[in-house]
Amino acid sequence: MGGGAPVSVQSMTAGATSDVARCVAEIERLRAAGADLVRVAVPERKDTLALAQIIPQVRVPIVADVHFHYRRALEAIDAGVHKIRLNPGNIQDRAQVHEVIDACRAAGIPIRIGVNEGSIIERKDKQKRLKELGAVFSANKKGYLLAIMITKLEEYLDIFYEEDFHDVVISAKSMDVETVIDAYTEISKRFDHPLHLGVTHAGPKETGCIRSVVALGALLANGIGDTLRISYASDSRYEVEDGLELLYSLGLRERTSAELIACPTCGRIQVDLINLVQDVRKTLDKKIELPIKVAVMGCIVNGPGEAEGADVAVFAGDRRGIIYVQGERVANVPEEQILDSLLRECLAFQERVRKGEARLGEKKVDIIPPDPIGELGSGWEKKAHELRDKTATLTIGGA
Ligand code: SF4
Repeated sequence: MGGGAPVSVQSMTAGATSDVARCVAEIERLRAAGADLVRVAVPERKDTLALAQIIPQVRVPIVADVHFHYRRALEAIDAGVHKIRLNPGNIQDRAQVHEVIDACRAAGIPIRIGVNEGSIIERKDKQKRLKELGAVFSANKKGYLLAIMITKLEEYLDIFYEEDFHDVVISAKSMDVETVIDAYTEISKRFDHPLHLGVTHAGPKETGCIRSVVALGALLANGIGDTLRISYASDSRYEVEDGLELLYSLGLRERTSAELIACPTCGRIQVDLINLVQDVRKTLDKKIELPIKVAVMGCIVNGPGEAEGADVAVFAGDRRGIIYVQGERVANVPEEQILDSLLRECLAFQERVRKGEARLGEKKVDIIPPDPIGELGSGWEKKAHELRDKTATLTIGGA
């Protein structure tokens, strides 16, 4: 993490860590979705005890998320965890933090310090709490919140530096997009540690996706961030999928599975394109293991141009689809056969790439669009009607 390593994607399990079988299954599901690290909550002793059974059964590094009880950190380290997350808002005792640092140093594992908005405000010292809350709810809320985050981070980091421990990752999450961007930008200037990016309490996937992608995308595009978690109040598999997609889109990770390009649809479509796109996506996810670019286009108006960069493309017409591989037309099939034909061509292309007979992203010829009248079915029936009517008129006239 950090030091030029690819940006990694994390997620967190939702079930109790003490339920070993369920936790193992959840971790493996996230790993299969592409997670590079998985974080687990360890609120109780039974959770850290379970970790000793969980870790040997999974194939991804595990981070123990520790709050309130520093002993959970020590127990998790004993269980073989690969990273500890500490919260300066609820584990503050210097001697306790030193114990955790010593144990992490001995185990050779890093510690993440998370100065997140939700837990950074003082809770024990009443005077301090009132002052900080006053600052946060003042007119200049964002400026004060940022100042509190940086100050607490500096104070907490001192504990690590006085122990000469520098294997530290920093996070400063907020639910507010602007605060996230400002906080990480400021931290990246002040501290030389890998940064764990995230928008906290982002909400369900439907809305949280926008917040997270705006904030994290802005930071990553400026070279800020070494690992990330997109947090949703939804199935955590989406956190991993969307985190990876964000990195692929920014060119920060090499895509490892098929990339789907699809037209947004408009009044020109004459097939059920929305469902076709969903079916293609699910099928490609299951069957294609190379980063083949596949385009599903609703018509030939913009289809050829939009599909130009695709390895395999289909342009739909009037209940038909014409399929292209590397720019060459290979099939013209009725709507109900588009999915199977497209998959067949993708699998054949994948096989040729594996054998070295074809290369990803290589066009053999420029795409030649199909004839809009007749070839794709579009307008053909109307034309046939016109011809029939004309024949009928002639016949009547002749009589
Ligand atoms: S490809 Fe055709 S159907 Fe799809 S949005 Fe563009 S013009 Fe409309």
